[in-house]
Amino acid sequence: MSADQLVQVVLADNPSPMTGRGTNTYVVGQGDVVVIDPGPSDKMHLERVETAIRQRGRAGAVLLTHHHLDHSESAAQFATRLDVPLAGIPQPEMPPLDTNLTDGDELPFGGGTLRVVATPGHTRGHASFWWESERVVLAGDLVAGEGFIVIDPPDGNMVDYMASLARVRDLDAAVILPGHGPAIESPRAYLESYIRHRLDREARVLAALGPDPRITPQILPAAYDDTPEAMYPIAVRSLVAHLEKLAAEGKVEIVAAGPEAAYQLKD
Ligand SMILES: [Zn+2]
Repeated sequence: MSADQLVQVVLADNPSPMTGRGTNTYVVGQGDVVVIDPGPSDKMHLERVETAIRQRGRAGAVLLTHHHLDHSESAAQFATRLDVPLAGIPQPEMPPLDTNLTDGDELPFGGGTLRVVATPGHTRGHASFWWESERVVLAGDLVAGEGFIVIDPPDGNMVDYMASLARVRDLDAAVILPGHGPAIESPRAYLESYIRHRLDREARVLAALGPDPRITPQILPAAYDDTPEAMYPIAVRSLVAHLEKLAAEGKVEIVAAGPEAAYQLKD
């Protein structure tokens, strides 16, 4: 049976600038099925997820890619209702987990085995699930089928994020099923474009810096001149993530930390 027949996506009705068309909940397998990211506590949505489970068999586990509420809000209650364990990579913001996952764990289900791939960066403890026999990655918010992912420090970390993108690229998947947007049919090229996008941005950030300390309102318009001003409150978070990566690499000096933070090129 093909991955197409073995995975069902149920789109939550929570569209927004941050969630695109809404959050994708995946029901995976036949017989013993797993639910990935049950999504918001929306009765109608969860009923549709339950219908999808029933059409395929019965649930064996609920898995979380990360703690953001658009993925996890319903998770603890829903797992209890289904009487199955809730599993994810533990971190403080996660709902209470029954099963703590770690990189490399193998999760058998009715259709094969999902391997846990730790993909931190969007958040700490972000997990992707690699279904190697079908060459499918269920990637949460590592990538989106449309647009880009916000990296919001300190939970978000650009160094980790870039490493996670490269790691999933190197799996050489046939399909990525993201937490938002449509399936990604050319994962290697898509992830390459994500990596290039970040490196381009990093170059713009460097070009917007000088030997004197500059604060983010000075850096942002130059580094994000392709971004509408309405998006600046979100863009500034990714800017800080880029600056922290550059500081970790010794290219930028953080002159003052916290809300007063200023950044300058390191000589
Ligand atoms: Zn999300």
